[in-house]
Amino acid sequence: MRLRSWTTLSLMTIALVAWGQTSTNPKLVNTEATSPEPSVNSYTVLGATSEQETLVRDQIRIMQPDVYPLRVLFVSHWKYVETARTFRLHVPAGYISAMFTHLPSRSVFIDSDRYVSDDSLGYWVAHELGHLAANSASENAADKAAREYRKRLKDARKRAVH
Ligand SMILES: [Zn+2]
Repeated sequence: MRLRSWTTLSLMTIALVAWGQTSTNPKLVNTEATSPEPSVNSYTVLGATSEQETLVRDQIRIMQPDVYPLRVLFVSHWKYVETARTFRLHVPAGYISAMFTHLPSRSVFIDSDRYVSDDSLGYWVAHELGHLAANSASENAADKAAREYRKRLKDARKRAVH
């Protein structure tokens, strides 16, 4: 069971790399304009426990991002590091070390060994959704877009408490 899911992840990585390398069509980057409706639930969550999947789907639903990911992948730390290296991504030390987004494939990778709590998961997913909304690798642009998403998460938590 476990072996099989790793195989799936590896194939997914290979497919994403191939896609990234051949993707010259700007339409692949932003399909929002051509989609008839926002794909609220049509993205895939891979490698997550059922609790993690429920949590991340709830958080994304609350944040109502402008651009939804196509897939959210929970991966072990070694797989995370390997994938980042495959995409030649520089993950700044001490900064967003628990997740990153591959923009051309709208894929969010989460290091399932590194994120520490439900709240921190939502906080950093907001940042990754910010990258998608801004369609930019800029950390400032992502944080700017993430501000509204974090506010929605916070408001939802307040409503749940009172
Ligand atoms: Zn970032």
